[in-house]
Amino acid sequence: MEKKVSIILTSYNKPELIKKAIESVMKQTCKNWELFLMDDHSNEETSEAISPYIKDHRIHYYNSFIQPAERLKSTRYAVLINYALSCAAGEYVTYLTDDTEYHPNRLSRMAETLDNNPDYDVVYSSQKVVHVNECGAEQFHFYRFADRVLDQAAFQVDHCSVMHRRSLLGRIKEMFGSFWDEDVMHWNHGDSIFWSRLNTFSPFLPIKEVLDTTYKTPHSFQNTYQSLPAVLIDGTFVKGTDQKVYQLDQNKRRPVKEQWSPVYRGKTVIIPDPFLFQYEEGSCSNIPNYQLVQNRHSVYYIEGGAKRLIENRALRFYQFKRHDIVPLEQEELYALPDGPPISWERSGRIDHPPGRILFFIERELYLYVQGVLHPISGDVVKRFFIKQKPVPTSFQKIKHLPIGNPVYPVYDEIIRNLNITKD
Ligand code: UDP
Ligand code: MG
Repeated sequence: MEKKVSIILTSYNKPELIKKAIESVMKQTCKNWELFLMDDHSNEETSEAISPYIKDHRIHYYNSFIQPAERLKSTRYAVLINYALSCAAGEYVTYLTDDTEYHPNRLSRMAETLDNNPDYDVVYSSQKVVHVNECGAEQFHFYRFADRVLDQAAFQVDHCSVMHRRSLLGRIKEMFGSFWDEDVMHWNHGDSIFWSRLNTFSPFLPIKEVLDTTYKTPHSFQNTYQSLPAVLIDGTFVKGTDQKVYQLDQNKRRPVKEQWSPVYRGKTVIIPDPFLFQYEEGSCSNIPNYQLVQNRHSVYYIEGGAKRLIENRALRFYQFKRHDIVPLEQEELYALPDGPPISWERSGRIDHPPGRILFFIERELYLYVQGVLHPISGDVVKRFFIKQKPVPTSFQKIKHLPIGNPVYPVYDEIIRNLNITKD
């Protein structure tokens, strides 16, 4: 008799892919499984995609009904997995995300390897990784090969390529106080934290065969968490999984009207929903902040709800592009208060530069925003300042401006501090 396998599938807003994930479980050659379908309060489209399956007696469906404000307080999939683990009855336990498909022999190959290797409590297999675009079309793919016994599996093995004995769980809880670590700082690598817990009891035994295919969408965390600073940069156009575009404005996210789509198209940064939901929703703005506009006579920069007249020479100095200037009705412009003009001094001294301007000084990048100059890393610039060129200058010309905290990717720092060494 095949031993029972408990599969824990976590789901959030991937209506097309989740169907494939569930179908891949239904098509397993091993028949003795139970599936915990853990939905983290997904949108309606996803609920509809899931609903035909929940009648199956082998599938245990759970919806967290988590509210937006709560989403960032813990690593959500770890919370869902811990709940499922407390109900799991299989001899073996394995994990699945909503963007991954098991190959038909995945469960049987892994279970049989554990059956035949009583000295090992964990097995892992090779994986195909496919990067797809927003429409689901493949961009490129590669393989992660399982070819050696791992004493340190953290950051080496994917969430969906592991199976372990359920009997390990009691020992893990006793030693660490929980199964998966729910601390929100591990959102991007919660599986690795759990692998390091598993590794305290057993090495990971490899299975060379490719037993799952995972799809990386532009919305997957590994992509969207990349190069995110702790505080997102004011004025950025952002969107989460629901595709609605917002502009960040002083700790609020303000919806941007569709009429501005030529401005935000190609400049919108996809960020994880939990990051987005940190910002309270504000009112819709008529004119986006940090936007170049013009009437018949002059060009202005919209900043902090005021209009700042830009001299022609300043327009060139700050490398603004003519095609980024949007014509505006006279009345709309006159309704705005005047801010300090943006000028260019013959002496070269830079006063009141426009917000969200990047400077390049002695091979380092700086961002000027909300009256403060911040050192900024090239990785953050790449994600947040699509198509914007930094303005080369010298310290002499900006040394009177206040210097603020550096803007660098926060997750790199967290991982550095984890003390999990790679093999
Ligand atoms: N997830 C979740 N709640 C959320 C966001 C994500 O339960 O608020 C789940 C998601 O369904 C998936 C897992 O967390 O099973 C990892 O997310 P994703 O695949 O987007 O990240 P990746 O690791 O691929 O970048
Ligand atoms: Mg994923």
